[in-house]
Amino acid sequence: MTIHILPDVLIAQIAAGEVVERPASAIKELIENALDADASHIHVEVKNSGRALIRISDNGTGIPADEVPVAFARHATSKLNKIEDLERLLTLGFRGEALSSIASVSRLTITTRHRDEKMGTQLQIEGGNFIKQQAVGAPSGTVIAVENLFYNTPARLKFLKADQTEKRHITHLITRYAMAYPNVRFHLVQDGREMLHTTGSGELADVILQVMGLEQFKQMIPIEVQSIDDTQINVVGYTSMPSLYRADRGQISLFINGRWITDSKLVYSVAQAYHGLLKDARYPISVLMINMPPYDVDVNVHPTKAEVRFRDNNAVFTTVQRAVRTALISSGERPSFTHTIADSPQSGWNAHAQNHGSRQTHMPFEIEDAPPLTKQSMRSFSEEEIAIPVGIGQPIRPRTLPLLRIVGQVGATYIIAEGPSGLYLIDQHGAHQRLLYEDLEEQNFERIILEIPQVINLSTKQAKIIEQYLALFEPFGVEMTAFGGSSFQIRVIPEPLMRIDWLEVISVIADHLSNNNPTETIKQRLSQYGATKAGQTLTQEDMQIIVGRLERARNPLTDPFGRPTLIHMTGDQLARQFGRN
Ligand code: ADP
Ligand code: MG
Repeated sequence: MTIHILPDVLIAQIAAGEVVERPASAIKELIENALDADASHIHVEVKNSGRALIRISDNGTGIPADEVPVAFARHATSKLNKIEDLERLLTLGFRGEALSSIASVSRLTITTRHRDEKMGTQLQIEGGNFIKQQAVGAPSGTVIAVENLFYNTPARLKFLKADQTEKRHITHLITRYAMAYPNVRFHLVQDGREMLHTTGSGELADVILQVMGLEQFKQMIPIEVQSIDDTQINVVGYTSMPSLYRADRGQISLFINGRWITDSKLVYSVAQAYHGLLKDARYPISVLMINMPPYDVDVNVHPTKAEVRFRDNNAVFTTVQRAVRTALISSGERPSFTHTIADSPQSGWNAHAQNHGSRQTHMPFEIEDAPPLTKQSMRSFSEEEIAIPVGIGQPIRPRTLPLLRIVGQVGATYIIAEGPSGLYLIDQHGAHQRLLYEDLEEQNFERIILEIPQVINLSTKQAKIIEQYLALFEPFGVEMTAFGGSSFQIRVIPEPLMRIDWLEVISVIADHLSNNNPTETIKQRLSQYGATKAGQTLTQEDMQIIVGRLERARNPLTDPFGRPTLIHMTGDQLARQFGRN
């Protein structure tokens, strides 16, 4: 074959492979167009799961008669002029690919009348070829009928799933858009049956109620968070109480600036907000509308525009996780049981931990439970979860680890870093415990005098033990006195441990204290409870602080209990794992 430029129709058909994978993706594009055209009413009619007919009617602006044919040309759009427009994009479309793609793989008829024009236009296209255009009388708005989708691309037709699956995709899609646009009235009819009908009242609650039914809706908690810490990220929506859950993450729906997106990491941070609240392999139902400045998110990643990239991943993940967690906690949910991480890293890591001589870390594994929340700590849960105490007036200390460059966080549990001699996988909880432990030991902290001393009530047995060792707490900034019966009053605490549950910690210490090195037990447990838990998304800055300090810790390699804080793999070891030497 000689080299030649492909004809336009063929180019469009090839592009269609990316944009319209299945009937639901064609519907998605057409709905986005209607929304971009300011429609307040969108009617979707589907026959034979979209194979026979998709008809979408909207009452939006309509298309001016002289622009109708252009709308079907490749890369024709009214939404973008120059590349900078992408940074302030307020429309769902911008690629100018949908209409030409859909028209190239179906028999399409558009009937449209622009608001300001008297006559409407009807245009017919078959497999990308113009058949007929005529002026018609029509209400303002647009009706696009797509018949025999994929009739001329048999390969694609063959790959479509069973009717039920395609139907489910369609219902799922319209439901998502109805939730994202509660002010728009959506109507979905499949094979003559009404599947969804929303009121367009503007209230998300109305749509969710409609979609889920009253029983489930009663178990949904509203979320409303206006940007935390100047991130300019707002989160509103609903998330399920732990009593309502699913076996997969498919019911966690995320919208960025009104665009339904898929982002497995963001979904993961939402699931992680249920740490200690939902058992393993149970996932919440969440509908989250995340709004942020358009220039902080890149939507031009994939032709379907369902994937996005954030300028600051961590800001988004942290804000979303906090929003969900805060809503859960303030509605009265308490973490109560241990939690197992489902997504375990590759077994190669384990294998290596053994070779390296460190204790093997079992994965999947149990993470220590977060301490139960006291009333006092509930108020400031979001800060407390994430705050990394820095210690005061840190003297510059000699390095005990090489300079590490942070690569990222995995499983909200480990920090990945790179050093001059390979890869470091750092356990955030263990590392933070180590830092607190050394701060306590060196009295590198501020003492906080409590305005209202805290009184804790121990068991008689615990009280007897603590009484004996009261003086041992003082060097660590904990000033505690007997308060009658088996109660104690705490008047002074160390700043890095401002937000821990003292009843819990002191009880645990009492249960573990013995004559055999009691000071050690106290130090260990205080740092354990003060440390960042596994399962928390850390910001880049949080990770920088932990790793930066660990590089100069006296004993950076183990936590106070002697467990490894990090796994180091040299370049050679990595090469060996890949069978490269
Ligand atoms: P994009 O949405 O990326 O601009 P499309 O191929 O989806 O590209 O649509 C091309 C153009 O046709 C749009 O930019 C818009 O001007 C016009 N258009 C498409 N659908 C509608 C509609 N339902 N109502 C009004 N205008 C529409
Ligand atoms: Mg479009």
